[in-house]
Amino acid sequence: LLAANKPIYLAPAMNHKMWDNPATQANIDILRTRGFTLIGPDEGDMACGEYGLGRMSEPQTILEAIEEFFFERPLKGLHAIVTAGPTYEAIDPVRFIGNRSSGKQGYEIATALERAGARVTLISGPVNLKAPNDIKTIAVESAADMLAACEAALPANIAICAAAVGDWSPEKQHADKLKKRKDEDKISLTLKQNPDILHTLATHKKRPALVIGFSAETNNLLENSKAKLEKKKCDWILANDVSGEKVFGKDQNHVHVISANSNDIEDWGITTKTQIAQRLVTRIIKYYDRSE
Ligand code: C5P
Repeated sequence: LLAANKPIYLAPAMNHKMWDNPATQANIDILRTRGFTLIGPDEGDMACGEYGLGRMSEPQTILEAIEEFFFERPLKGLHAIVTAGPTYEAIDPVRFIGNRSSGKQGYEIATALERAGARVTLISGPVNLKAPNDIKTIAVESAADMLAACEAALPANIAICAAAVGDWSPEKQHADKLKKRKDEDKISLTLKQNPDILHTLATHKKRPALVIGFSAETNNLLENSKAKLEKKKCDWILANDVSGEKVFGKDQNHVHVISANSNDIEDWGITTKTQIAQRLVTRIIKYYDRSE
């Protein structure tokens, strides 16, 4: 593989004796001294039944090595915490209070940050999404567990709270499954307020330099979101208009970005969750460009 002054040698599949042969090794040394980056070979079982160093690297490894080689990593050295998905608040061992968050937006953000070179800790409520490759993903259920995982992941440079954290959890978690009783046709649950993860991170003694939240509003989007930004003490808030049929059941959102240190509000128009993640990461890269 050759690209403008950036040579890569991808070791093909070969028997380990061939790889170890002094003639091969001498040639590989020449490539090294000429500045080639080597990909593989990997150790493992060979097609001929022998074992050793001579397997061609897996496609994913090759792709990652090429990406690492060619793409700039503007967020290299930075640690980002991303929360995603819903929380489940247990009522008893089998029942919970949850919500319909898919987690997609948080997972897209985590992936985009990782591609830009950040080290990402993704803290995820229960979702039907595959944990992204190379991203440390911590599975949690309740808001309390999500907060504990976030605090354990500190210090971080960036925190992005994209999770739909339940506002309430049952005051009492029953150790055994609640039974229906003949004499009771109603039961009540007392709910207590959950911790606000975004606010906790934004006011933490180990506060990340950049704390970003989301806000979904059905009315007075910009005023309510600005008020939320101030109340939660975050740096930026991505405001989503969820009135009418604009968002639910659709893959597109209409996002406005509000910053604590500017009166300008950016209207990102109607975009997909993937584009929102990319634009957010571009904005983070610009933020670090300016602050350096
Ligand atoms: O207050 P509201 O739920 O509208 O705020 C939304 C923002 O706050 C989101 O960024 C969400 O991830 C975050 N949040 C949180 N912990 C909570 C509630 C919301 O981190 N308990």
